[in-house]
Amino acid sequence: MVGAGVMGASIALELQRSGRSVVVVDRGDAVGAGSTSTSSAVVRFNYSTLAGVTAAWESAHRWADWANHLGVDSRSESRAPLARFVQCPMVFLEPPNFPRMEATVLLSAVGVPHAVLDEDQLAERFPALDTGRFHPPRRPDDPKFDHGPFGRLDAVMTEDSGFIDDPRLASVNLMDAAQRHGCELRLRSEVVGVPRTPSGRVAGVSLADGSRVEASVVVNAAGPWSARLNGLAGVADDMAVSTRPMRQEVHVVESPSGFGLEDGGAMVADLDLGYYVRPQRGGTLLVGGVEPDCDPLEWIDDPDEVSPTPTVACFEAQVWRLARRLPELAVPHRPTGLAGVYDVTQDWVPIYDRTSLDGFYVAIGTSGNQFKNAPLVGQIVRDLVDACEAGHDHDSDPISTWCNRIERTLNLGAFSRLRPESATTGTVLG
Ligand SMILES: Cc1cc2nc3c(=O)[nH]c(=O)nc-3n(C[C@H](O)[C@H](O)[C@H](O)COP(=O)(O)OP(=O)(O)OC[C@H]3O[C@@H](n4cnc5c(N)ncnc54)[C@H](O)[C@@H]3O)c2cc1C
Repeated sequence: MVGAGVMGASIALELQRSGRSVVVVDRGDAVGAGSTSTSSAVVRFNYSTLAGVTAAWESAHRWADWANHLGVDSRSESRAPLARFVQCPMVFLEPPNFPRMEATVLLSAVGVPHAVLDEDQLAERFPALDTGRFHPPRRPDDPKFDHGPFGRLDAVMTEDSGFIDDPRLASVNLMDAAQRHGCELRLRSEVVGVPRTPSGRVAGVSLADGSRVEASVVVNAAGPWSARLNGLAGVADDMAVSTRPMRQEVHVVESPSGFGLEDGGAMVADLDLGYYVRPQRGGTLLVGGVEPDCDPLEWIDDPDEVSPTPTVACFEAQVWRLARRLPELAVPHRPTGLAGVYDVTQDWVPIYDRTSLDGFYVAIGTSGNQFKNAPLVGQIVRDLVDACEAGHDHDSDPISTWCNRIERTLNLGAFSRLRPESATTGTVLG
């Protein structure tokens, strides 16, 4: 297993508890210290594909029952701290002509409870929000930035959504569980090569210190570094969908009264103004981006060169938009927050698949929207490895995985590296 982020840790747990001997290598010096550590960790269900909604709804049940998922006794006083799922409603504010029917049909098909709040209900439920329509999203230096509102919004809301209060701790919980089953963890171990056997299948990984880990199965869960590792393995050319790192800022501001976690706030995906917001404990809000057309995308070549410091330009764009929606928001004088890196595919859908190199698997391209699905991704990769190593041709006959909490099957062809580009939002919403 390459990568000890939330994905690598979840996959390690499921492979190890299914009876395999797993070694996790990570170039960093802590579990979950890569892009996982900067995650907003929002758990929501409004994806544009059936597979996306299904994976998110199943995973939410596993987060809500985290101790059980990990196999730890939640009543034991000696157990290590566990990450917590904090329930919080999610409000989806749509741009004009958004295909609401298609989105709610998917929620209904999977059984995700949701409600449409009309203009008055939205204003009554969330009085701190200005429920006017301001579309399209604009840059703060646009002379029309302050224009509007041009009518009022209604919204789709899910009550069962929420967030994980500590995404790095969630990774540590998964890795601890994997290690209890016998998994070996090697930090400060950078993979610099992917050797092959004489017959042409993967033989393991070569490390920067000159040593080698022999393995008949290798999984790339290297997050924003995934394309680099695919290059080392020589598997990129066979993939119809590829991955690319993108810098992303998330800002932190104080919550105005009436919109905190404890006093009636909500998570909002605001496609009308072009940002998302998530309350957190301690009276602050996280503010992130949803790739509106007016914002430049920050593609990068090297995730190691990314500045973690938020910029004035991005801060103003995201926080000033939020200030239009939350008129009581006090905007700080200087940027506050952080920057992380997404691992983005062309259609913002992840790749969970085998590759052209026998024994080399990928759980990559998580596109800023897969933290929530980590509890299921371990099982997805376990099922893929089991089927493919037993000789099944997943490329021509995709396997499914069983979502036992919601009692539905999930066809893993949706995450194939060979898929035609899916028609999605083309943004972090997936
Ligand atoms: C700012 C931000 C906000 C987000 N918000 C949300 C959200 O609200 N909801 C949601 O569902 N998702 C969200 N995401 C996405 C989610 O956090 C990621 O999809 C997820 O954390 C990726 O986990 P990972 O394990 O794949 O990658 P990482 O956590 O980056 O782990 C990859 C690991 O691989 C290691 N590695 C890389 N190359 C090598 C090598 N050659 N040798 C050894 N080790 C190597 C790295 O050191 C790293 O530890 C967000 C992401 C970001 C960046």
